[in-house]
Formats: sequence, structure tokens, C-alpha cells
Amino acid sequence: MSDLSDAALVDGVLSRNRRALAKVITLIESTRVDHQERAQSVLAALLPHSGRAVRVGISGVPGVGKSTFIEALGLHLISAGHRVAVLAVDPSSSVSGGSILGDKTRMELLSRRDEAFIRPSPSAGSLGGVADKTREALLACEAAGYDVIIVETVGVGQSETAVAGMTDSFVLLQLPNAGDDLQAIKKGIVELADIVVINKADIDPLAAASAAAQMRAALAMLRPSSAAWRPPVLNASASRGEGIAEFWSAIEAHRAALTAVGALETRRRRQAVDWMWQLIDSGLRARFRNHPAVTAALPQLTHAVESGASTPTAAAQQLLGCLSQNLGQAYKAANHD
Ligand code: GDP
Repeated sequence: MSDLSDAALVDGVLSRNRRALAKVITLIESTRVDHQERAQSVLAALLPHSGRAVRVGISGVPGVGKSTFIEALGLHLISAGHRVAVLAVDPSSSVSGGSILGDKTRMELLSRRDEAFIRPSPSAGSLGGVADKTREALLACEAAGYDVIIVETVGVGQSETAVAGMTDSFVLLQLPNAGDDLQAIKKGIVELADIVVINKADIDPLAAASAAAQMRAALAMLRPSSAAWRPPVLNASASRGEGIAEFWSAIEAHRAALTAVGALETRRRRQAVDWMWQLIDSGLRARFRNHPAVTAALPQLTHAVESGASTPTAAAQQLLGCLSQNLGQAYKAANHD
């Protein structure tokens, strides 16, 4: 995979070498145990150099104009002197084999720029696995000096929650159609949004204005996630480049509002601790499923629950008991050494 030593990879990333960054992300995305070990050691060295970027999550249904919007935004930011990385969380890519960012013809202008780094969604694993890899890739991009990181996601399952959980500002792109807002409200995505953008306003400006009014009314009924910020609703036309500068001003205003009350730091700290707990949860689950006593008892207890011979509570207690017995033994062994 990589002929470079870990130290050379770290130096490469810190000196903003794109190939080194791409290799580190490939290690992060690999499922091989030795690659994972290397990825963790490289990330540990990069971590002190991360954390300085503006992290923006962008979500919306397929076709709403995410890649058009991100390309216009990326070019706008580059012209203002920024360096922009674009990552993605798309758990559906492991099913379809493709990725929302896999097609290189998307964001073609942006991908040709030296100041931009575009990486498709990791294409294997559960949402949790895909999101973890994107989180780690985000840290590596920050260490490589990208000062704006955009994480794109498509409206699949809980991917919005995952992306909102790794970014400073979470943005919902909406179509100016009646009903689009209802879908997002029903799925609980509007609650996550720090900024809502009604895209494709050029097609029917009146419809866009009324969609924006409807969204403002919906937002007014939700409890704001922070007392310091009321999510604004903006109109844009990504394909014409309209509303992009105003959008970035809203991102800056959001950061300023959160920073003024210490809420940005709190948000990042909470995200880091939540991430740790997610890893503990998935680690425990994997250990439980692979535990020999659990694998031995599971078929019979599953059958007992299915047939009504055992209650789910009793079966779950018995199975969890397999794990705690083992933990108890490990504890005793550790304390008697
Ligand atoms: P994504 O699936 O959300 O990434 O959407 P795309 O960026 O691929 O855009 C889907 C289609 O909508 C493309 O044909 C774009 O050219 C078009 N599109 C994107 N933004 C706008 C816009 O602001 N106005 C109009 N009229 N079309 C747009």
C-alpha cells in the first residue's frame, strides 16, 4: 500500500503534500489491521496540528444542487485565499458501489484547483464506520492546512446526524418545492440545521420566496439549539453563483455568535466525547458478538425468544451475563497479579 514510513507520511501531510494526504486517508479507510494501526499512529502525530479549520456540513436530497453549490462555494473561497477540502459521508455507497462524490466530472472546476482536495465517501461499511473514517480524514485534512472543510451528505438514514456531529455549522439545502420542507421536518433534519438554503431560486423566484417563508415559520416553531443563534433561511442559485457570498457571511456570523458565548468550543468538545462513546458502543457490540460464550448461547436463546419460551429481557440478561462474567474474570486476574 504505502512504501513511505509513518514519519514520512506525517511530514508529507504537514508540508501539504497531496499524495501523502491521500495515502494517509487510504490507510484510514483500509479495514486491514496493520493499516489501521499505522493510521492511528499517523493520526496521533497529526492531531496537534488539526482543529484550526472551519468545518461545514452540507446536506440535501439528491438533485438539490449540493455539488453545484459546493463547487461554487469552493471557488469563491479559493479566490478569497482559502484552501478547501471536500469530504463525504454516504453510507449508500457501500450498497451501490458508487459514491456521491465518486464521479470526477462533478465539481470538475474545483477538482482542478491546487487549493482544493476532494475525496469521495469511503465505500465500505456501516454508517458508523463510514462516518468514523470521514471524521479521521477531516483531522488529516486540517493537518494538511486546509482551512475550510466541507462534509457533504445525502439524505440517507442517520447520515445527517453523523455529519452535524462532526461540523461547526450544519447546512440544509432545500428545493423551492412545496412539500420538500415537510419531508425535512418529518425526518428531523430541520432541527439540526444552523442555516437553511433554498437553492434553485432562479427557476421560480416566487416559489423560492414562499418556500423560504414557510421554512422560517417552521423554524420559529422549533426550540433553537443555541440561545446564541437563530437559523436563517437564505435563497441561492448555485448554478448562477448567486447567494454564495451571502451564504459564507452567514457561516461567519454563525461562528462569531457561537464563539462570543464559548459555544463553538463546547460544541467541539461535546462532539469529541460523543465520538468516543460511539466508538465504545460499537466496540462493545463487536466484542459481545464475537465472544465465544455469546456465540455458543445465541442460537438457542434467539429461538427461545422467537418461540415465546423466554422473555427478551431474560434472554438479554443471560447473554449480557456471558460478557460480564468474562469482564469479572479479567478484573480479578488484573487485581491478583
Ligand atoms: P446534487 O445531487 O445535490 O449534488 O445536485 P447537483 O449539484 O448534481 O445538481 C443537480 C442538477 O441541478 C444539475 O443539473 C445542476 O446543474 C442543477 N442545479 C444545481 N443548482 C442549480 C440552481 O441553482 N439552479 C438551477 N436552475 N439548476 C441547478
